[in-house]
Amino acid sequence: EEKLKQLNDCMTDHPDFPKPGIVFKNIMPLFSDPERMKLLGDVLEETIREKFPGCTKLVGLESRGFLMGMAVASRLGVGFVPIRKKGKLPGEVVRQEYTLEYGTDVVEIEKASLEATDKIVLIDDLIATGGTMKAAVKLIGSTEATLVGALCLIEIDFLKGKEGIDNFVSLIHI
Ligand code: IMP
Repeated sequence: EEKLKQLNDCMTDHPDFPKPGIVFKNIMPLFSDPERMKLLGDVLEETIREKFPGCTKLVGLESRGFLMGMAVASRLGVGFVPIRKKGKLPGEVVRQEYTLEYGTDVVEIEKASLEATDKIVLIDDLIATGGTMKAAVKLIGSTEATLVGALCLIEIDFLKGKEGIDNFVSLIHI
């Protein structure tokens, strides 16, 4: 639709960033202009209201998922909680290890930030291989809260990263 086309048109592609062979999609132009930011908020709000009406908290993936989540959480009247790489969050955390191309990494969430009654929607800017999102799905699965779905603004279709993720929604396909 027209709104998604407008959002897609303002993002920039950067070949060989951050490594040779990767074409990096830069979402920051969505935030540098207030009209685009409003448009992004409108699109995310409509999507979450339609697809995930029972959502009580958005959980954003480090770090562009924080921007996406915060752009829409207050509009929906729901809370926002970050998932971060290990060692960044204080207090008691729930932890999930996951596999990268070379080696492993760990993500964490603050235990006190989620309640058993929460219905969680995960949010990030982009899904590529799906490794990051699947780690987040597992992480929420080991808390008391209920995961209702996951939302990314952009999906790299050919990588099939969404396979195995229940109730996954993406808006721009590249
Ligand atoms: P995945 O784990 O391979 O699905 O990679 C997704 C994660 O990498 C997300 O957290 C994205 O923010 C980030 N990412 C991968 N490629 C891009 C890109 O082209 N633009 C912005 N973020 C990207």
